[in-house]
Amino acid sequence: MDLGLKGLRAVVTGGSSGIGLATVKLLLGEGCKVALCGRDAGRLEAAAAPLRQQYGDAVLAERCDVLEKAEVETFGAAVEKRFGGADILINNAGKARTSTFADTADEAWGEEFRLKFFSVIYPTRAFMPALEKSKAAAVVVVNSLLARQPEPHMVATAALRAGVQNLVKSMSVEFGPKNVRVNAVLLGLVDSGQWDRRYPSWANPGESKEQWRARLARDRGIVVGRLGRPEEAAAAITFLASPAASYITGAALEVAGGVSRFA
Ligand code: NDP
Repeated sequence: MDLGLKGLRAVVTGGSSGIGLATVKLLLGEGCKVALCGRDAGRLEAAAAPLRQQYGDAVLAERCDVLEKAEVETFGAAVEKRFGGADILINNAGKARTSTFADTADEAWGEEFRLKFFSVIYPTRAFMPALEKSKAAAVVVVNSLLARQPEPHMVATAALRAGVQNLVKSMSVEFGPKNVRVNAVLLGLVDSGQWDRRYPSWANPGESKEQWRARLARDRGIVVGRLGRPEEAAAAITFLASPAASYITGAALEVAGGVSRFA
């Protein structure tokens, strides 16, 4: 199936690692021009350099913290200058917070609110004028299955993820008449930088990374018996972003290996 992505201009926030980077690669492979951002300039350049070698000017990497409004606007201006507009926005930048209700302080609630909502609000606002001019405009929000299935050790993240799903629905209704589709993916456990960083503190003493991952999959009841790969999340994101999904908006696609306690 031709996804119809050739020649489209895509923006991926948090494109320097994990799911974002896998999505950048997939979009470039499908013939898109892709702008990616991240906060750490070194990590961003390490991700972008080999892509630039392969795809040349179709790759634009800009350091940008999506929670800094002015930086997001500067990123938007750079994309406009290089690509002359944007057709696709993937709001992917972010991370989860591990804490129970008892150990989530007021400041932490505030930080988590800011991360989950403004990582969507600032880029969407900055790129909306360009998207409105596109003939194939799509926004994809990378969200989590926690929006539907909260877990007690991630209480703030889960509650705010549910709020983001509500926002996705509102945006899809408001932007529909402007021909801008808005969808979300609800990810389960995807083996990325986030999980690598958790391994030292979450694993049992003496447990190898492989044993720990296998235990996670078992404990979470993941039906296919393993964590997801970044490329598998990227494939769902890319489909929803593509003209092949032209009749899909306001949807939430679960990419979670079948894990579902409340199905
Ligand atoms: P990674 O840590 O591998 O990648 C996160 C990316 O986001 C990095 O490029 C990071 O770069 C960037 N980033 C983080 N914060 C900001 C910021 N404020 N501004 C700009 N860039 C930022 O994680 P994943 O690939 O696993 O996660 C991608 C998204 O998927 C996240 O939003 C995550 O919460 C979500 N998700 C992941 C799940 C999983 O199991 N992996 C499950 C559910 C949701 P830098 O640090 O340099 O800024």
